[in-house]
Amino acid sequence: MQFAEQPITLLSQFSNFVRPFMGKNKVEAEERLQLATEASRLGIWEIDLKTHQCFTNIFHDQAFGYSKEIKNWTFQKFSEHLHPEDRERVISQIKGAIAQKSSFDLETRVLWPDGSRHWMSMTGKVARETNRLVGVNQNITEKKLAEETLREALFYRDEFLSIASHELKTPLTSLKLQCQIFKRVVKRDGEEGYSKERVDRLVEQSDQHVNRLVRLVDDMLDISRIRTGKLSFTFEKAEICQLVDSVIERMKPQFDSSYSGRPVIFRCDRGELKVDRMRIEQVICNLLNNALKYGRGLPIEVKIERCEDVFRISIKDNGIGILPKNHGKIFSRFQRAIPASEVSGLGLGLYIAQQIVDGHNGRIHLVSDLDQGSTFIVELPAN
Ligand code: ADP
Repeated sequence: MQFAEQPITLLSQFSNFVRPFMGKNKVEAEERLQLATEASRLGIWEIDLKTHQCFTNIFHDQAFGYSKEIKNWTFQKFSEHLHPEDRERVISQIKGAIAQKSSFDLETRVLWPDGSRHWMSMTGKVARETNRLVGVNQNITEKKLAEETLREALFYRDEFLSIASHELKTPLTSLKLQCQIFKRVVKRDGEEGYSKERVDRLVEQSDQHVNRLVRLVDDMLDISRIRTGKLSFTFEKAEICQLVDSVIERMKPQFDSSYSGRPVIFRCDRGELKVDRMRIEQVICNLLNNALKYGRGLPIEVKIERCEDVFRISIKDNGIGILPKNHGKIFSRFQRAIPASEVSGLGLGLYIAQQIVDGHNGRIHLVSDLDQGSTFIVELPAN
């Protein structure tokens, strides 16, 4: 039944809104209320508690997924639309309000005729004089989704803060410890306390800790650049094999101190491409670091080849591998396929790598399964 067709009975239930106009003119009051409901898209409903007859307006029905007004709306129909997990709670709240001749205010999930799930808010009040339950309802799905996104963002922020502080603290603690030992030895034995080899080792270790700190801070800065759209690229010509070689050369100390050793390189093709050299080196460095980190100390292979109009760099390890269901997830911010208690990390490297490769109109993907090792493949357009 059309809201407009309902006489003043329905309107009178919304007396708080209408009362200021009622004295003047009922038609004017009705018009004003109709305008207000249309503007707010507020669903309005009413149940006669004696006859169980229901009256609804179009916005009420729209909140249940109907584009046209539903004739003969019933409480049974309402109950069938409630999400099974919410049904008992909602019905008991409504029945409670009826029993106590009071009101209710709730949020619930509803199932639309097409099977989709939506959120709805609903407020109702028993009008004692007329023995009617009247109320309003509204689709609040967008608000709920926004709340969910916000909750998720806060969760990731807190998790990030806790992991980031842990990650930053680890190299700092090691550096601090080294300084303390150094000071103690020098105080006790003077300059003689340290042999050249020992100093070299100490400097090398400190360098590694500082590099780790720099990498972490750089990653965090990159995340903020990506978020604000400020990750920019300066393209220049580079030779693909030379580019990969320069990263491996720089990482020699890391390879030499790992069981994996230096990677085996297959330079199948050579050629020039236009890239932001520093950024692509960062991607390769990140993938090689991961191969060391997750590679169980087994050999690593790097292959450079040209496939039609793309250059392909494949970095293969023989480590822990990644379940196929996690392949998409690990390219998202803060997402990891392994708990921080097993191998530490912020879950930012692959996200940043993908943003960089995307910025080159390239593609990054992987072939991997649990315990089967991983091959990360970066494809960049040839000139
Ligand atoms: P981080 O290593 O700091 O966690 P990344 O973004 O580099 O961040 O990697 C995201 C996740 O992907 C890692 O936590 C790990 O679970 C998985 N991963 C990345 N590279 C490898 C690899 N070579 N082998 C196995 N798992 C990997």
